[in-house]
Amino acid sequence: MSSKKNRSISVTDTILLVTNAGGRCSFNYEGKYCNKILSDGRVNLGERAHIVGVNGPRANESIKCDKNAYENLIWLCRDHHKIIDHTSNLNIYTVDALREMKARHEAKISTGRYPYYGSDQTTHDYSVLSCLFEFIDIHTLYSCAASYPRIHLDFFDVSDMCFHFREGNPGALPLKDPVLRRAFMNFESSHYNLAQLLRPNNTVSEDMFTHIYTWPRTIFGENRVYKYLLDVERLIDLIESRFPQILHQKVYDPFPEINM
Ligand SMILES: [Zn+2]
Repeated sequence: MSSKKNRSISVTDTILLVTNAGGRCSFNYEGKYCNKILSDGRVNLGERAHIVGVNGPRANESIKCDKNAYENLIWLCRDHHKIIDHTSNLNIYTVDALREMKARHEAKISTGRYPYYGSDQTTHDYSVLSCLFEFIDIHTLYSCAASYPRIHLDFFDVSDMCFHFREGNPGALPLKDPVLRRAFMNFESSHYNLAQLLRPNNTVSEDMFTHIYTWPRTIFGENRVYKYLLDVERLIDLIESRFPQILHQKVYDPFPEINM
């Protein structure tokens, strides 16, 4: 979209557009969605795309509407703006398809599925979690311990990762969202308690090839594993309800040789 066209979109329409989109890219199509946060309350990184085009893509003189009004705009990230406007995609992202896309996105935002507790806090928590889970494969959080009493050594990496993240990013933790903050603290403390219990000792058998350790099964151990898994599930559910794109990582299999 050229800046010349943007000039005629009012501030009121822009605010309405960004707010109703929850500050996130509205792109969603056949179950794929973007949801990227594009606003921190001061700087907007999103783009106001025309649904019915002014002169460019999807321009249609027979559709009468105010082309620069909220009703004819959709809030998108730069990548998805390019994708919907690309010549080869115009028969996919039609005027009707884009109207439906916008309606679906705004309906989802209005259900509160993506809690919005202030743009600065939201952006802070998003950047912290997305950075942390670049280094921690989120699937290992669960799968490494769910196989108790067989535990993959990757389980022990999580606390190291959190420790190094804290060192390298002072002020990043604790998270700002109170619900997410508590869930993250519970997760870390359950992980710590389980890791303390599972410290390798002479009762543990080790498979040097697969890095899987097997502990003697105890009720006490099972209870700690259970508590840990519940806290992982709670944290992952909360992250998914706020920042679903963080969970778009490939599925990790801790026991590939065994499951083959
Ligand atoms: Zn996008």
